[in-house]
Amino acid sequence: MDLLTPDQHPGIALAADYAVRRVPWLAAVKHRWCGMADEDHAAVSRHYAHHVCLTDVICWAFAVKDLEPEHAAGICLHEYGHRLAGGDPGESDFEAEMKADRAVMEQLGIELQYRGLREIQWVDLALLR
Ligand SMILES: [Zn+2]
Ligand SMILES: [Zn+2]
Repeated sequence: MDLLTPDQHPGIALAADYAVRRVPWLAAVKHRWCGMADEDHAAVSRHYAHHVCLTDVICWAFAVKDLEPEHAAGICLHEYGHRLAGGDPGESDFEAEMKADRAVMEQLGIELQYRGLREIQWVDLALLR
């Protein structure tokens, strides 16, 4: 798959459209490639994206181009969940991950699943159409 930007990925495009329909201000959140995300993915293969570099940017590892759309969409929604949940300086990584998925459930109406050997976020694409 040739992608100029991460949101050309069919799974990411579908999830982004869905998220913005549910919560219009998420249109401010952009998607970009990030070398740090590539490094994270090289170190931990289930890591494809993060929301730490900039408030309104979801950063992606280029390797997402080979990921199935159901997984890419699930990751995308999870990262929007981090943006929706905000962050508490004192919270643990575990708490932040739980809060992100809870925000996806409460504000985007999707219960994220974790599937496959790497337990990567997964969503039924039919729910996003
Ligand atoms: Zn980044
Ligand atoms: Zn996360």
